[in-house]
Amino acid sequence: MGQLSIYKKLLKHFGKQYWWPAESEFEVIVGAMLTQQSTWRNVEKAIVNLKRERLLTPKAIAQASVPELQKCVRPTGFYRQKARRLRDFARYLERKYNGKLELLFSKPVKDTRDELLSLDGIGPETADSILLYAGGKLIFPIDAYTKRVYERLGLAEGHYSELQKFFHYNLPRDLVVYKEMHALIVELAKDYCSKNKPLCGECPLREQCSFERRFINM
Ligand code: SF4
Repeated sequence: MGQLSIYKKLLKHFGKQYWWPAESEFEVIVGAMLTQQSTWRNVEKAIVNLKRERLLTPKAIAQASVPELQKCVRPTGFYRQKARRLRDFARYLERKYNGKLELLFSKPVKDTRDELLSLDGIGPETADSILLYAGGKLIFPIDAYTKRVYERLGLAEGHYSELQKFFHYNLPRDLVVYKEMHALIVELAKDYCSKNKPLCGECPLREQCSFERRFINM
């Protein structure tokens, strides 16, 4: 089954997801950094805290104290590390780009990606989420959900860059499709394709997926 038909099936089943849920590009970045090893519900709590303390701009975070930031991001776990990384990122943005994200994103995608990857706490998944959802770049983030679902579907496997190439080759080069597809796969994995108890019988992709049959015959 082609990627476009998977996309259409998921879209029909779950509806549009309108990711990333944020009020600004900078909020997308903060969310992407905080969501590592955390649930989205806890990230939302941290975002609410940062908003309440008026700390959701590069300048405000750059000037905040680490304990102040720790208090806000505490619900997401690893809060000491995350508070420091957020402040370092905001300071970097202020120092190098005068806090202007549009300058960071004005370079060729590869250069911005390499730059993001050189910063503490930003790995490929976070960098690509930032590039897609904050920078509006055609780059597909691969997370553990995507890896699991696509391996089970028997469509793609391998390392991060191999999986990413699969999406880049097979998805229509359309920003809305990229944004929605990533969000839809997350929904599928959370609602149906869980790690230990996939609900294959009710899954919208069950006709295309042989995982259950392979699994039972193992
Ligand atoms: S049919 Fe089962 S294994 Fe395949 S994608 Fe759906 S939930 Fe996952």
